[in-house]
Amino acid sequence: MLANKILNFINGEFVATDKWFENRTPTTNAVIGQVAEAGKAEVDAAVAAARAALQGPWGSMPLPGRVELLEALVAEINNRFEEFLEAECADTGKPRSLAAHIDIPRGAANFKVFADMVKNVPTEFFETPTPDGRTAINYGYRRPVGVIGVICPWNLPLLLMTWKVGPALACGNTVVVKPSEETPRTAVLLGEVMNKVGIPKGVYNVVHGFGPDSAGEFLTTHPHVDAITFTGETRTGEIISKAAAIGSRPVSLEMGGKNAAIIFADADFDAAIEGTLRSCFVNCGQVCLGTERVYVERPIFEKFVAALKAGAEQMKIGVPEDKETGMGPLISKEHQAKVLSYYQLAVEEGATVVTGGGVPDMPGELKDGCWIQPTIWTGLPETARVIKEEIFGPCCHIAPFDTEEEVLQKANDNQYGLATAIWTRDVSRAHRVAQRMEVGLAWVNSWFLRDLRTPFGGSKQSGIGREGGVHSLEFYTELKNVCIKL
Ligand code: NAD
Repeated sequence: MLANKILNFINGEFVATDKWFENRTPTTNAVIGQVAEAGKAEVDAAVAAARAALQGPWGSMPLPGRVELLEALVAEINNRFEEFLEAECADTGKPRSLAAHIDIPRGAANFKVFADMVKNVPTEFFETPTPDGRTAINYGYRRPVGVIGVICPWNLPLLLMTWKVGPALACGNTVVVKPSEETPRTAVLLGEVMNKVGIPKGVYNVVHGFGPDSAGEFLTTHPHVDAITFTGETRTGEIISKAAAIGSRPVSLEMGGKNAAIIFADADFDAAIEGTLRSCFVNCGQVCLGTERVYVERPIFEKFVAALKAGAEQMKIGVPEDKETGMGPLISKEHQAKVLSYYQLAVEEGATVVTGGGVPDMPGELKDGCWIQPTIWTGLPETARVIKEEIFGPCCHIAPFDTEEEVLQKANDNQYGLATAIWTRDVSRAHRVAQRMEVGLAWVNSWFLRDLRTPFGGSKQSGIGREGGVHSLEFYTELKNVCIKL
């Protein structure tokens, strides 16, 4: 049963406030709950609880105890899999098949992977000759950073939140999480799980609200937050970066993208179509790593456009519970209006609409939902705004290219640098192009294939810092050198 009152989670308690905002489900846009907005007082209380927890049993717990608790957490998320699934699908409208396959299992796996990682990563050691003929030894010692502020987006709510909370807790920090105002539910459910498995009070806290003049701003400007990790839009990341500068606090930013896929004529055609359909349209195009620019080598251009069009048109748009659903709605009416404004702009900029371009006809109560058609364009100049700006919807522009040099120049000519997918059977070219792409993540003959031990993050305006595997240690621990003269 979905909760209709969604509360803050502070110091192990569920906390209401006197200010509420609506929680809507995108399939119908109906109000399905009320969320308690945290004010300054609640954010203060959450940060104070997180600070106090560093001094309590959590702060002095040996690593094996922490790891055991995180493993219990994974088991309990899996026990309550169905509730997490229901909550995530209610908030996002995404197909259950997708959330059951990606969001919830990966949400749990994030705790397991980082619990394993902290157990197994050594620190460095150096032996140093001293001028008096003796030696000193140096070793690295990692300690937690302290209270981490975690600011999350709405597209993969549990997965992207635990991607940060998993390593933060594994490293011994405490957290205050601000979920997206669009998707508050799974963060609160996780609070119930924390209590159930015995994670000490104050280690994990959740405050709800918006950005400016609300919980987001109160948290990121709070002087007792030691570091901030953020996933969301680049312009929000810039504001948070400024907030983090006060007090010289570390910040990790995972931000927007305008990712290119490059398909060479020698690629496995069916695999490239299947992969590009996923990278453009999965999660209704609301994936930071998703493709919005497709470059196809000229000999297969027409064939590729026709096959992608056929695939897009076959995708069933529908509700989460329908097993046939390939694509759900966008997250909100506001985001639908933004994506539709780009659909209109594409036409104004001179695009040929290959398929889509509007809102599908949906029956009954679904009429008011945030639906959108998967959309493909061709014919735009590289200077078009639709080619330059992140839309974050199920859409792509496809352009032909003739040479490797030309496609590299076009694909790299963007302010963002998050991810790319390159499709070719030529091994040397695959390496060459992957290495020259100005991105943090380059996939070859695949997309969104993730090994959680590998670095994840964006270059250029897509991000600062890398998380994942040992790279998360760099952000979530303070590395100190201990030098001992023998
Ligand atoms: P957003 O930037 O609008 O919001 C993200 C979070 O920031 C929300 O919780 C919001 O309330 C909060 N926020 C907004 N203004 C704030 C402020 N002034 N101070 C503090 N907090 C503030 O992003 P979104 O619309 O939720 O998510 C979509 C964006 O996220 C897209 O640009 C997408 O590319 C990006 N994204 C990036 C990655 C990545 O790993 N690089 C992953 C997922 C999404």
